Amino acid sequence: MDLLNTLVDKGLRRELPTREEALAVLATSDDELLDVVAAAGKVRRQWFGKRVKLNYLVNLKSGLCPEDCSYCSQRLGSKAEILKYTWLKPDEASKAAAAGVAGGAKRVCLVASGRGPSDRDIDRVSETIEAIKGENEGVEVCACLGLLKGGQAERLRDAGADAYNHNLNTSEATYKDICSTHEFSDRVETVQHAQSAGLSACSGLIAGMGESDADLVDVVFALRGLDPDSVPVNFLIPFEGTPLAEEWNLTPQRCLRILAMVRFVCPDAEVRLAGGREVHLRSMQPLALNLVNSIFLGDYLTSEGQAGKADLDMIADAGFVVEGAGETTLPDHRDGLVSVRRRGAGTDLAPNA
Ligand code: SF4
Repeated sequence: MDLLNTLVDKGLRRELPTREEALAVLATSDDELLDVVAAAGKVRRQWFGKRVKLNYLVNLKSGLCPEDCSYCSQRLGSKAEILKYTWLKPDEASKAAAAGVAGGAKRVCLVASGRGPSDRDIDRVSETIEAIKGENEGVEVCACLGLLKGGQAERLRDAGADAYNHNLNTSEATYKDICSTHEFSDRVETVQHAQSAGLSACSGLIAGMGESDADLVDVVFALRGLDPDSVPVNFLIPFEGTPLAEEWNLTPQRCLRILAMVRFVCPDAEVRLAGGREVHLRSMQPLALNLVNSIFLGDYLTSEGQAGKADLDMIADAGFVVEGAGETTLPDHRDGLVSVRRRGAGTDLAPNA
């Protein structure tokens, strides 16, 4: 297919596909699906080889959120049956993180429900980051605490955080349909705060909320515009007790097409298979490893994933390898940019670089 040859060539050169090309990937037939996976797999292997990075979620604070994101089991008024608790102590979080690291995780993602952290919350999370870093040499720590105010990203960076996650989730045009308590632009600003503080940005999407193909392409192009280092792709888990409880509209084939499209648009970013992979990809999960280079190990925030051992077996059986602690995730050109941002804008860039 000419389309796939063009997309592979562009992916290998880190060139942005056109919107039409991205839409065409989503419109491919089931008969073409293996060709699509093979083509996006070439791009994945060019930038990440056969490595799979493992990430581990630690839920610092669960439920009781005042925001109304309609996909979320922790939203205001949610009737979903989930654990609700406030702030794990640093030693509790560090113990949980150590379990993930022992299972092979390179990155620990510290997540808290809520609109965004108070300055006191930043103090707590800073202590937690220091505890985790002190006890798990070389582990990457990503914080995911909601919308950031001025100066908070810098404080997290100073405490040792490597990255900050804040997803765009869906297109700007449909954002108001999934949330009324904050706006798409608030989310964009937080990703930019994290980047200007020198944190590696992690920002992705949720597919399966009733969006159109054009919406999916819009959000992935918006992400490419922000250029996060990692892009988690979630597939909606329609929780009972949330407004999207009836939105079961994904198939394994559609999930694979979405992941392939994200890989073509963000060829050298860490594309991470995130929530919903077990329920929506089901037995097709190993094929998805040809598209993504990163997954979450074990459980998600308020739902259980498949056991860590099953993930490790799946990776080995599909011919991939778990990325080691000493290996760099991002390709050299991108890793260099992360280091420069971390030292501060303009520190050792040559003129005109
Ligand atoms: S702000 Fe976060 S925790 Fe709160 S409802 Fe939205 S996604 Fe859920």
